[in-house]
Amino acid sequence: MNTDQFRVKEGTKLNLKDHDPAFSDGLKDKDDALEALQNNIERMTELQDMLYAQDIYSLLIVFQAMDAAGKDGAIKHVMSGVNPQGVSVASFKAPSAEERDHDYLWRHQKALPERGKIGIFNRSHYEEVLVVRVHPEILQGQQLPPEIKNDPDIWNKRFNHIRDWEQHLAENGTHIIKFFLNVSREEQKKRFLERIAEPEKNWKFSIGDVRERSYWNDYMRAYEEAISATSTDAAPWYIIPADKKWYTRLAISEVIVNRLESMNLHYPEITDAQREELIAAKTALES
Ligand code: ATP
Ligand code: MG
Repeated sequence: MNTDQFRVKEGTKLNLKDHDPAFSDGLKDKDDALEALQNNIERMTELQDMLYAQDIYSLLIVFQAMDAAGKDGAIKHVMSGVNPQGVSVASFKAPSAEERDHDYLWRHQKALPERGKIGIFNRSHYEEVLVVRVHPEILQGQQLPPEIKNDPDIWNKRFNHIRDWEQHLAENGTHIIKFFLNVSREEQKKRFLERIAEPEKNWKFSIGDVRERSYWNDYMRAYEEAISATSTDAAPWYIIPADKKWYTRLAISEVIVNRLESMNLHYPEITDAQREELIAAKTALES
């Protein structure tokens, strides 16, 4: 699979209309994707083991999307093979009182993966330039100095903060991949209706999601601007087609495996002295 077709190159202006949410690269259904997904999950397991053993790099994976685009299912399926000790998932909702008492990156900084680990952000610091931008009253409710809240240039400044922060992380050994799950408005409606119709999906439905849906175009504009401004070589955005869940999962797994493969991971090599210790231990065990 050519995952470059999903990557937003640094400095380009994203137009979501150029990205088909129903794209599936000629694959017809789930069965067509199954084997490749399974292979990727296996490969990810091997690579993650080395990442953990090496304990130098970490991988941060950001998921952003409209409701019902499939973030949760993608995380569940794609990460199904990895050792739970090597991953952390942080889900970001509206900030708590304690979080609002700090700068907006504070809670995200605290949730970053340690060296050797994969960290998943289910929603992220990008909410600060998405939901907060679409709903100006949220910004007004933040405990910021008035000259900052009312600065007409606040979004560009936040893009700069985010770019610099991610660059800083990258230059300290954190690899970063950011996914936007690109679901169509029609498919979202279909999934909401399923959540209402099927009892075992009722819990996933929230009436507030229908209200957010009425801001669809504002969200798309906010996503386009945020992604255009923050897709960098160090921390690229990928626009993943999300109308077919099985293709979404395959594409995500492919991007993650490619990134891990590029990281030059290997098991730590032991020194001659350590090898002699191993031989001595073997002799002792056998005698
Ligand atoms: P689900 O798939 O279960 O619905 P979700 O990620 O949508 O998962 P919810 O609890 O439904 O989880 O929604 C979290 C809400 O928190 C979203 O509406 C999101 O926009 C909001 N949120 C996240 N970060 C912020 C933030 N910094 N400021 C304000 N709202 C935020
Ligand atoms: Mg939700």
